[in-house]
Amino acid sequence: MRSYDFNWGPGSFIIFYHLLLAIILPLYLVYYTPSWSLIAVTIVLFFATGMSITGGYHRLYAHKAYKINRMAETIVLFFATMAGQGSALRWAFEHRLHHAHVDTELDPYSIKKGFWYAHILWIFKKPQAINPKVIPDLLKNSFLTFQDRHFPLLMTITNLAIFVLVGWALNDYTGAFVFAVWVRLFALHHSTWFINSLAHTLGDKPFSQEISAVDNYLLSLVTFGEGYHNYHHTFANDYRNGIRWFHFDPTKWLIWTLNKLGLANSLKRIDPITIKKRMVIERKDLLLNRLRDAWEAQKAEFEPLVNELSEKIVAKFGTFAELKEKYRQFTEECCSQDILHNLQLEIKALQHSLQQDIRTWRGLSRQIMRLKTT
Ligand SMILES: [Zn+2]
Ligand SMILES: [Zn+2]
Repeated sequence: MRSYDFNWGPGSFIIFYHLLLAIILPLYLVYYTPSWSLIAVTIVLFFATGMSITGGYHRLYAHKAYKINRMAETIVLFFATMAGQGSALRWAFEHRLHHAHVDTELDPYSIKKGFWYAHILWIFKKPQAINPKVIPDLLKNSFLTFQDRHFPLLMTITNLAIFVLVGWALNDYTGAFVFAVWVRLFALHHSTWFINSLAHTLGDKPFSQEISAVDNYLLSLVTFGEGYHNYHHTFANDYRNGIRWFHFDPTKWLIWTLNKLGLANSLKRIDPITIKKRMVIERKDLLLNRLRDAWEAQKAEFEPLVNELSEKIVAKFGTFAELKEKYRQFTEECCSQDILHNLQLEIKALQHSLQQDIRTWRGLSRQIMRLKTT
């Protein structure tokens, strides 16, 4: 890398603090034992700064997955600034490029350039200037333009403030310096960077096989729920990344809670039928690809079954959505209880036959994935 290509500000800061931490953390652990309250405060700050990135920079600004009240936005921006990941404008600009051009030369942290490039090395490369056409909506937000203009100063002030506050409250300035500032920053940086590296490397692709993004449950545990990355790249405007209630996605739970408190609104969700349809279509492609390497007899047996069943399920999903919409209209507009009751019965019967088809589909899918191919 030529010297003038080096991103001097963020690049030297990251190298500097990694070296600093490599020296002060072992020294601290030799001479002191961190108190439980120091560890607890560091974890709380890790979550506050982390979720202001995932819930704020990512889902609110980059993807406009919901709207937020100005007071809550100030708090989000305070912690997001402390997270030391650049301004919201730059972050969202680069992230929108990542989604629009994933895995290509125009993806700022493309995994195709290697794991470590996607994880950290991309930050050392001088970034391109922000193109206003990519973030015209965000440029209208005065909070964000102010934060962008004064980012290095604001980042220093927020971190200094938390250092003094934690040091004073726990009467432990050394511990606050090492843990509440640098260890927390280190853990959060790598947690965010894992989304660009690991979430494009190890996991499943139930929604889009043609892109590198993967769903990885374990990763969601250390990324505030951002491990469901294949879903996220497929349906980027959904405020959730983990769509099932049991999926570990604390960012989704935070946004949901803000909504219940009246601090966030217009939460975007992809409807379950669209999601399920997409999964069947993707699975069909995967199974047909798998059968391409199978013996002729296996192909002749399974290919028609895959095509027929997947088409049948997709068609039934379409009818199901139509019936639901009809039911919604009928309840609003008219109609006699008899008509509504009959419609309800029709929906239930269709739901039942869809469940049976999906069970058969799963069985067929397992059978094909277990086939011994050529
Ligand atoms: Zn990604
Ligand atoms: Zn995204």
